[in-house]
Amino acid sequence: MIAVGVAGAAGRMGVATCAAIDAAADLELRGRADPQLGVGLEAILGDCEVVVDFTQPHVALENARQCLDAGVHVVIGTTGFDVSGLEGLSGANVFAAPNFAIGAVLMMRFAVEAARHMAAAEIIELHHDAKLDAPSGTAARTAELMAAASGRPAPPIHSVRLPGLVAHQEVILGDVGQTLTIRHDSTSRESFMPGVLLAVRRVGSLDRSPVVGLEHLLFGE
Ligand code: NAP
Repeated sequence: MIAVGVAGAAGRMGVATCAAIDAAADLELRGRADPQLGVGLEAILGDCEVVVDFTQPHVALENARQCLDAGVHVVIGTTGFDVSGLEGLSGANVFAAPNFAIGAVLMMRFAVEAARHMAAAEIIELHHDAKLDAPSGTAARTAELMAAASGRPAPPIHSVRLPGLVAHQEVILGDVGQTLTIRHDSTSRESFMPGVLLAVRRVGSLDRSPVVGLEHLLFGE
């Protein structure tokens, strides 16, 4: 059994994560931290081997430091903060991913491949209207990976925030007389849960830290 805590446990992703951990036979939910529950992160660290963080951009880095200081591994799903701040932290392992949905990881992979062969690209990311950061972590990472693969500047990103949306992204590539559109839709937060649980199970045995991106766990890259 892995003892798991959730930071941001009262939030949209936190609630889904607690339910997924509760339902997993090999994981035990040992703590829920959230200002809305009146429980601070420090109160749950003593009971946990791994903490999953789905909080807010301005607290994610400090939460990670707190976990590592207590020797607790951390899986970070929060986006909109600079992940380079995780470099050099020690005490336990850090795994972060801007998107835990397998389809989104594949969308990024296909977009990177397409960027090598087509002249130009733009990214449209669409999310629910309560999302705090823009552009999304997924779009920023897609653009960064496409730029590295193509040797061109990062593609422009357009952000749409509307009620009714969950998390969606389109990468449109253009070349003479043709376009190619690669699109991923998360229609429910359950789409992220297999990836979150995979990271919880693997974070303790990483051979380096931090590791950023679910592709490293799925494809060994
Ligand atoms: P949310 O509904 O606003 O939930 C965040 C929760 O964290 C809130 O209840 C908030 O409480 C709480 N919180 C704030 N500071 C905290 C702290 N220091 N310790 C513990 N909890 C704290 O947001 P969400 O929609 O669940 O999204 C959370 C994050 O996950 C966002 O950054 C989002 O972009 C990201 N996300 C990532 C993925 C992925 O696959 N990686 C997928 C979806 C979303 P208050 O409201 O009282 O501040």
